[in-house]
Amino acid sequence: MKPKSTATPSPVAIIVHGGAGAIHPDYHQIAQEGCVQAAQAGWRMLVAGGSALDAVEAAVCDMEDNQAFNAGTGSVLTNAGQVEMDAGIMDGESQAIGAVGLIRHFAHPISLARAVMADTGHYFLAGEGAEDFARARGFTEISSQDLISERRRKQYEERASQKAGEQDTVGALALDAGGNLAAANSTGGVAFKLPGRVGDSPIPGAGFYADNRFGAVVTTGQGEHIMQAGLAFLVMQALERGASSRQAAEQAAASFARRIPGGQAGLVVLDTAGRVGLAHTTAFMSHAYLAPGMDEMVSGIRFR
Ligand code: ASP
Repeated sequence: MKPKSTATPSPVAIIVHGGAGAIHPDYHQIAQEGCVQAAQAGWRMLVAGGSALDAVEAAVCDMEDNQAFNAGTGSVLTNAGQVEMDAGIMDGESQAIGAVGLIRHFAHPISLARAVMADTGHYFLAGEGAEDFARARGFTEISSQDLISERRRKQYEERASQKAGEQDTVGALALDAGGNLAAANSTGGVAFKLPGRVGDSPIPGAGFYADNRFGAVVTTGQGEHIMQAGLAFLVMQALERGASSRQAAEQAAASFARRIPGGQAGLVVLDTAGRVGLAHTTAFMSHAYLAPGMDEMVSGIRFR
């Protein structure tokens, strides 16, 4: 699918992913369309003069509202049948970080993560403390039940997604007109996880990283594998050594596969010039991007 961009080519760039894994064929088109819609939300922010942080937050919020994805409304459930969400965001200019874990009553964990970055002097809040902070900041509290989609309720009842290995977490990277990069990740984690489990998605160096000097990355897949390998940091090291975004993605994925044989992960990379890289060890990875020199958005379920 190649939706026409309304904007002329510019130095700004956006890439989003909708997770890597064994995406069920019934959801290929929905996932691809959801990625396009989210990338467009981020792109609109960039061409209106918004920052890279604004763009990645807008893109991820869009996917948190889209029940096709495992983030926000439509997150997978714990083995106790509850939603527990994690998110992380990073500013490539200041390298400030915001992250939240175990969120149960707020529809946009990525916005909470950004508020943690902006307002607390800390980088990571989890559980009750994070939710108290959200209430104090005036975020709208909702019933946890409202975050559970019909599809996830059914999967939970049938324990189906565990078998399918679906991993449809979301992430976004952006480069703004000022040359700033940002990264954002949001997830319901893995299906049937133990209550209290936090994965890689809100962990800098594992699930995401952004540094204006080199580039930015977000990862997705089995959090335990990704944390063990420090996957986001493998990408940053490759970029720092002078690899292109595509080379960095491929080198990090190859290094990940050597370190964690059979490991399940995918990643997207954006460098300082807005060039895109993407790699995955899984069967599929849904994505959409628009980068300098392109006049049309590219989207797909694989990337080869
Ligand atoms: N990495 C996420 C986690 O393990 C899941 C995913 O990316 O789909 O929590």
